[in-house]
Amino acid sequence: MISYKSSFYLSKYIRKQKLLGKTIAFVPTMGALHLGHISLVKAAKEKADLVVCSIFVNPTQFNKQEDLLKYPRTIDADSKLLKAVSCDVLFIPSIKEMYPKGTNNGFQAPDLGNILDILEGEFRPGHFEGMMQVVSLLLDKVNCDHLFMGLKDYQQFAICSLMIKAQKRKLEIHGMPTIRESSGLAMSSRNERLSAEGRKKAASIYASLNWVKENKDQLQIENLKQGAIERIESQDGMQVEYLEIVDKDLLRPSQDKKNWIVLCAVWLENIRLIDNLIL
Ligand code: AMP
Repeated sequence: MISYKSSFYLSKYIRKQKLLGKTIAFVPTMGALHLGHISLVKAAKEKADLVVCSIFVNPTQFNKQEDLLKYPRTIDADSKLLKAVSCDVLFIPSIKEMYPKGTNNGFQAPDLGNILDILEGEFRPGHFEGMMQVVSLLLDKVNCDHLFMGLKDYQQFAICSLMIKAQKRKLEIHGMPTIRESSGLAMSSRNERLSAEGRKKAASIYASLNWVKENKDQLQIENLKQGAIERIESQDGMQVEYLEIVDKDLLRPSQDKKNWIVLCAVWLENIRLIDNLIL
């Protein structure tokens, strides 16, 4: 695996590979890699000749400085995991490398309507603008044919799909299924901060999303939401920040059950967990 800290040399390498006719798949991450991230690299390997993975903890998508400082940084372990699945290139830029003129770099986010301000966007103001800024910069540098992202961050995936279309980028975006622990809990670097008891309780999130799926034909939307929230909050210490059932393409309320997705954010032990399930 080749590692680059410099975008100049990364882009030069990619240009050369493209001239040789190689296709490139890209997996952007913030590190602290787990089997969820690795599943993306494996899928990317199957799709393209070369896989580039980036690790960059992007300051512009954190709305709390404290969360940015607390974000786990495990580059040696990450590097080993990536080598084990034959990732070809690791890009690990510094903040200066990504934002040489500061984070106010004149990025113009495309107008995507209110999708940025609902669900996650309502509780994490500015998060998606920062995420689009960094994904856009990374795509300029990596110039990939295929972009792999997880459906675990469903709204992020939906926004990136719209952004890529609006920016007329010539690449295919792939949304990959959420990898879960055996309990059903969606894998996340945040799970490491849960106590053993918390981890058991957190499994109720996926169980409740599945309860919605099983009951969607029998119950009204409000009853489904209420039932799922009650199931999660029946576990001591768990608090639902939002739980919504919406259209999976537009993330807007819809009566069309065939196109529903349920998404939620839940607090437990001062840790915010997100999950979703296409119904
Ligand atoms: P992050 O490092 O958290 O920014 O995530 C990098 C990529 O990995 C994003 O596209 C995430 O959606 C994806 N990802 C995170 N957790 C999982 C998971 N449990 N299963 C599949 N993909 C995931």
